[in-house]
Amino acid sequence: MQTKLPKVGTTIFTVMSQLALDHHAVNLGQGFPDYETPTALREALTRAMNAGFNQYAPMAGIQPLREQIALKVQRLYGRQIDVGTEITVTSGGTAAIFAAVACAVHADDEVIVLDPSYDAYEPAITLAGGRTVHVPLALPDFSVDWQRVAQAITPRTRMIIVNTPHNPSGAVFTAADLDALAELAERHDLLVIADEVYEHMVYDSAAHQSASRHPALAQRAFIISSFGKTWHCTGWKVGYCVAPAPLMAEFRKVHQFLTFCTFRPAQRAFAEVMKDHPEHAQGLATFYQAKRDAFRALLAGSRFRLLSVHGGFFQLADYSAISDDDDATFCQWLVRKAGVAAIPVSAFCEVPPDARLVRFCFAKSPATLQAGAEKLCKI
Ligand code: GLN
Repeated sequence: MQTKLPKVGTTIFTVMSQLALDHHAVNLGQGFPDYETPTALREALTRAMNAGFNQYAPMAGIQPLREQIALKVQRLYGRQIDVGTEITVTSGGTAAIFAAVACAVHADDEVIVLDPSYDAYEPAITLAGGRTVHVPLALPDFSVDWQRVAQAITPRTRMIIVNTPHNPSGAVFTAADLDALAELAERHDLLVIADEVYEHMVYDSAAHQSASRHPALAQRAFIISSFGKTWHCTGWKVGYCVAPAPLMAEFRKVHQFLTFCTFRPAQRAFAEVMKDHPEHAQGLATFYQAKRDAFRALLAGSRFRLLSVHGGFFQLADYSAISDDDDATFCQWLVRKAGVAAIPVSAFCEVPPDARLVRFCFAKSPATLQAGAEKLCKI
């Protein structure tokens, strides 16, 4: 069969997690917590299943969960969203990204992504018949060069996809970034996907700059989040999308045929814990900032140079003092010979950056971080 995705193989996350297993390496590659999902959430899920909530959920998600999401967006970002028409619960953030792209991108449309960009964006754009235009973020801080973005816009540009906090760099948007994005989007009538799955992980007292804070931007944005990231349960695959009603109507046309609806017991469980345990999300920045700081301290004596991390749960490390290999080769060596799995930054780029960088995930237990750091310090 002729492939529709000639540039695509198996995702780097799957490849590296398998190599970590094969070589008994410490897995600091794929981004997932290795500690337990909160007890209250697991108990709520069990209760929901035992109470018989095991058949299809409403296509857009159950009302109590949509209500909690609306309350949260109002509380954190000051935006009023309509519970009935502006929220859809999805089977993970990736499915939300896919539905947003599929509903909005027409054949031959151009979509701007900012490299390094998450690996799910381009295949979704390609399958929709669109063309991905890669604009590099500016090193060393992975900030957006809005001038450069403006230059990439053509009459065919339909959409721009942004991600804050940023995977893999941990860069976060400022309020000025939101203004610049809104200005460009309005001037050129662009749609926006704001991938905000790490929204609760912003450090050093900074605030998450959600597109929901910016009324002009929110008017043209699909804003995506993930319960898996917030509640340490990436395997449950539940996320959501918020968008203005006319955009959401189109989004739902795709969502209803992509998965129809999302796992119902989990929706009951999330509605319950969001209501009863708001402290969980509120405490996440402190929780992950401590992990960031612990991991950085453990690596202080290594030959890796650590880049700054302002959000998310990834640490970029420059290995140029260790090796001249490209990052993919270095990561193969790292997992096979040094016993640590990491992710090469080039997996997120059309043109690899002019730097030797790998990504480590610090959403790990103290024991895992310690074990990984010990191996990394020996190099
Ligand atoms: N988002 C996770 C990461 O960047 C991986 C998700 C996945 O494996 N699909 O590591």
